[in-house]
Amino acid sequence: MKIFRNLTLILLGLFILQNCAQKSVWYKGNTHAHTVICGHADSSPEVVAAWYHDHGYNFLILSEHNHFIDPDSVSLPQNSRTDFILIPGEEVSGPKIIHSTAMNIDGLVTSDKTLEIKARIIQDHVDITRQAGGKTILNHPNYRYAVASEDIMPVTGLYLFELYNGHPLVENAGDSTHQSTESLWDELLTHGMKIFAVSSDDAHYFVTLDSAHSNPGRGWVMVKSPELSAKTITEAMISGSFYASNGVILKECGVVHNTYQVQIDALKTARELNSPELSGMWVDKTKNGFKIEFFGPKGLVLSTVLGSSASFSLKNAPSYVRPRISFSRSRPGGGSEEFYAWGQPVFNDERQLQE
Ligand SMILES: [Zn+2]
Ligand SMILES: [Zn+2]
Repeated sequence: MKIFRNLTLILLGLFILQNCAQKSVWYKGNTHAHTVICGHADSSPEVVAAWYHDHGYNFLILSEHNHFIDPDSVSLPQNSRTDFILIPGEEVSGPKIIHSTAMNIDGLVTSDKTLEIKARIIQDHVDITRQAGGKTILNHPNYRYAVASEDIMPVTGLYLFELYNGHPLVENAGDSTHQSTESLWDELLTHGMKIFAVSSDDAHYFVTLDSAHSNPGRGWVMVKSPELSAKTITEAMISGSFYASNGVILKECGVVHNTYQVQIDALKTARELNSPELSGMWVDKTKNGFKIEFFGPKGLVLSTVLGSSASFSLKNAPSYVRPRISFSRSRPGGGSEEFYAWGQPVFNDERQLQE
């Protein structure tokens, strides 16, 4: 009887251990920030790292233009938290204003500056980054409207792009003749690409803080990962285990029992929305509060819920389904501003990572 009880306890212990080991938590991170090294930013790598550390982030990429900042060369604040890491990276910046974050690389990557066709330039970024052990995030496609859908569609091995970038000049929302980055995303997804959306700061100014400058704290990702390391965070992101945010925080965002489930964390969102760094999207007057929408091919809205949680059955769903969670509030001068969390698409077809 005693042996039986001991065996039961051991099995129970193993079960708890296994579950603890597999439990994933949300990690907050920014994949795009600059330092004085680029010549057009105002703070050292140490000051930039300290800003993100002190504001509760869990990871940061110091993504300098064509310059590799070795995380081991950057001193973190004294008594820094153990749940904060620097992921090695670089902003590969080539001709035709094509920039990408090379995430989790093992050293400097150098792109081919002689290429002229945009799709080939992006493919070169993806290939050289992969050779350095990393993954590519295609950055700010609407900056000077440099990158269109036809430049991205031929590229293989690209799974991440910046839907939201906090720099004031990047035109996330498009204009009368250019589509928004969100509409671009739907076009790529409808076309069959497996590509996930990132939100980042592209911060350059940590001393001069105003809406005309690219400041920190405007765009980030929340990554669900079993542990905090450069490798696991990168793997989680290329498998779509994260959401992008410019203000809205979620408790849950993922598939359970073949149903896409979303739950908003209203308390944490309220805390974020108090932050002076945030920059909402201007919209015509809309109903204030939370809205959860699920989108499908061609960006069509499949379902809308006004409230703090929603689910969408994936049974008989179209080729992809993705949620967007918005929070609207009135602006003092009229109109409204919106903040978002963009959940990643889940696929109901055969598209795969192509390695
Ligand atoms: Zn850039
Ligand atoms: Zn940049």
